[in-house]
Amino acid sequence: MGRLDTLVIHEIYVSIQGESSYAGLPCTFVRTTGCNLRCTWCDTPQAFYGGERMARAEVLSRALATATDLVEVTGGEPLLQPGVNPLMRELCDAGRTVLLETSGEADVREVDPRVHKIMDIKAPGSGESHRNRWDNLEHITARDELKFVLADRTDYEFMRGVITERGLLARTPHVLASTVFGRLLPSDLVRWVLADGLKVRVQLQLHKHVWPADAQGV
Ligand code: SF4
Repeated sequence: MGRLDTLVIHEIYVSIQGESSYAGLPCTFVRTTGCNLRCTWCDTPQAFYGGERMARAEVLSRALATATDLVEVTGGEPLLQPGVNPLMRELCDAGRTVLLETSGEADVREVDPRVHKIMDIKAPGSGESHRNRWDNLEHITARDELKFVLADRTDYEFMRGVITERGLLARTPHVLASTVFGRLLPSDLVRWVLADGLKVRVQLQLHKHVWPADAQGV
């Protein structure tokens, strides 16, 4: 089997969607292994290594065996594996609503247009903001979502600047702002957003409130 026919998978499980405009809905998560970034606040470092190499057909059938309409492909960074784009196409063909969580560093050009991309824009506190692939914004449409994870006021001001300077809200109404758990108080973020009249969706990572001890990050 070739590189397109297999995937290294960290886990496949059913939970509720913790973020995005789909927050709260039952969702099947397909988590791939491996990431080429090292965000300081990464909540899924367990997905950097290990996992199991599986046939793409098996990943597909396991994802379709669950009862959820929603499937999220996440990582790690899914787009590092060439089999991910065909997998997402097949999930769309099967009638699933497909979300892709991606870091903003990987090229999103080949992603099926039916997929809802949830793309990070890395703020300075991540230590990886120099890796943002700004060309990716050309491929963001109203069905996609742009996500900032903010560790402090500097990150907030970075987000505010990027929204304006790069015209994010002309591309999608879905600009998400979340806080690094334990580093920035959501109440501070809400106050700043209201004071500036920013048209962003402040989101809490729902799964971390439901399962604070062993949150399965998404
Ligand atoms: S891109 Fe995502 S998986 Fe990779 S280090 Fe950053 S937060 Fe972790």
